[in-house]
Amino acid sequence: MRCVVFGTRSFDESSLREANTSARHELTFIQENLSERTAGLSAGHEAACLVVGDSGSAPVLETLKAQGIRGLVLRSAGFNHVDLEAAARLGLPVLRVPAYSPYSVAEHAVALLLTLNRRVHRAYNRVREFNFAIEGLMGQDLHGQTVGVVGLGHIGLAFARIMLGFGCRVLGYDPAPSDEARALPITFVDKETLFRESFVVSLHCPLLPSTHHFVGQAELDLMPAGSFLINTSRGAVIDHRALIKCLKTGRLGGVGLDVYEEEEGVFFRDLSDKVLSDDQLVRLMSFPQVLITGHQGFFTRQAVTAIAETTIRNLDGLASAQWDPANEVHPAAHLA
Ligand code: NAD
Repeated sequence: MRCVVFGTRSFDESSLREANTSARHELTFIQENLSERTAGLSAGHEAACLVVGDSGSAPVLETLKAQGIRGLVLRSAGFNHVDLEAAARLGLPVLRVPAYSPYSVAEHAVALLLTLNRRVHRAYNRVREFNFAIEGLMGQDLHGQTVGVVGLGHIGLAFARIMLGFGCRVLGYDPAPSDEARALPITFVDKETLFRESFVVSLHCPLLPSTHHFVGQAELDLMPAGSFLINTSRGAVIDHRALIKCLKTGRLGGVGLDVYEEEEGVFFRDLSDKVLSDDQLVRLMSFPQVLITGHQGFFTRQAVTAIAETTIRNLDGLASAQWDPANEVHPAAHLA
């Protein structure tokens, strides 16, 4: 298939080239993200490959269709950047990478938690200036603490297993927990109990209408003083205005964010010589107890390789009109 790859970063190109054995698909790499402005670049191609940060809005999809695109392959598990109703109306199948190394994201969530709890980010800066004082760097044992996991799918389960290994008590919240999740020593509780009792809350649910601003003022108020909130799912699962209000009180022990509500146009870019116009993001960065990474949870060699291999298999499926049904996302998925 002739496939145009939007939002290409160097590792996308190298991993997709490697997975595209025998050069069976003709790949055109474009660094620009897919948008109404760039959709026309798909002319002459049969498939478009999207990443988080690309827009799959209805007008964009209409342009893709008019240019001859027959299907979309997503280099992600998440699909909230694509208007699935519009894709279905236009007859564009949407294939994603439902699972690729859940350990990559789960381990990054743990990295954020450990860094914040033991103040490693602060210690790193101190020691670089030959300041070896440890005042202000005290953390807490995680062993024996209660950890709340929101969403016990592939990633949430991997995270929960690590926390169980640390000797934590794990609480879970998931409207449809799998048998695998139920088989673990996880106590499933309602949302309120999870926020009230957890020393750490880690978010691993998808962004859906039901999870938009899932963490707002009410949930933050329930969290115990000194507790931690970790988000490696999607930015808009947290109401960041409410979060800033809560952070100003100094009640929370730490907040680790790998995703952010308005990350589009900011994350995945080097803006080091630009003025950051997002005041909310700048405010968040100003809190010493906040640690932000730019959506790198997935970024391990194993995960990137798996994403590329499934994406190429999805292109094989589009070419033969026989794709893996487990990789297709349908409009109803948005409504859960
Ligand atoms: P998954 O589909 O395997 O699991 C999602 C779980 O969330 C399911 O068990 C589902 O029942 C549950 N869920 C659905 N609605 C819920 C709700 N209202 N409240 C609580 N739980 C709910 O997905 P996954 O592979 O574990 O990925 C989870 C999310 O992580 C993705 O949707 C994506 O947004 C995010 N993600 C982030 C990165 C990153 O680099 N930071 C990478 C991959 C995925």
